[in-house]
Amino acid sequence: MIVTIDGPAGSGKSTAARKLAARLQFAYLDTGAMYRAIALASLRGSIDLDDADAVSQFARALQLEIDCGPTHARVSVDGNDVSEAIRSIEVSRATSTISRHQSVREHLIALQRQIGKNLVDFVTEGRDQGSVVFPDADFRFVLSASVEIRASRRHQEMAADGQDVSLEEVAANIRYRDAIDAKQWEPLLASGAAIVIDTTEMAIADVVDRLCETVSGA
Ligand code: C5P
Repeated sequence: MIVTIDGPAGSGKSTAARKLAARLQFAYLDTGAMYRAIALASLRGSIDLDDADAVSQFARALQLEIDCGPTHARVSVDGNDVSEAIRSIEVSRATSTISRHQSVREHLIALQRQIGKNLVDFVTEGRDQGSVVFPDADFRFVLSASVEIRASRRHQEMAADGQDVSLEEVAANIRYRDAIDAKQWEPLLASGAAIVIDTTEMAIADVVDRLCETVSGA
């Protein structure tokens, strides 16, 4: 069974997807971590992030590995674990830039489908999972929430991680990313194919319950 969860930054989809996968004993694929790992490696390799060909060629030469265990997602590049390093705001910004390059997307789409082929049941989470990568998935969810609540959730997560960043900076980053990312899942909304959940007023446990009821009750 394939379950896709797409939506904007801070909608709660990462936590919800991870918890849903753990509850169902499914594998969990965090596709944002793959884009982030390429962005981090490009920054470290002093690659011009605006140069689509340069980033894409560089990305294709990297050994990108992602652990799809149900309770955690660890990602490594060329054998180095970068699971924590990919979460900084600098990497978030760089990720928005590199994820706009179609050649980079094509590389990761192929990689994600390859990973999917080797998994039996999985929850995959990102921006284009239900619309582009796994359009035949059994369940395709889109999670949404107001910008204010998403910024506040992300800010709390980053503060808990010891990152010194203001709420305004986080909100600005979220607005910037929304403008770029939304077009990935909009086709799902336009066609009415997605099950949409607005998490603005919901606790994460309730989001997971709702997802689980939908998947298990089918
Ligand atoms: O989900 P996360 O915040 O980790 O994603 C980081 C960035 O990676 C997103 O803002 C988006 O630009 C990009 N991304 C994407 N397609 C995906 C997953 C992530 O473009 N499937």
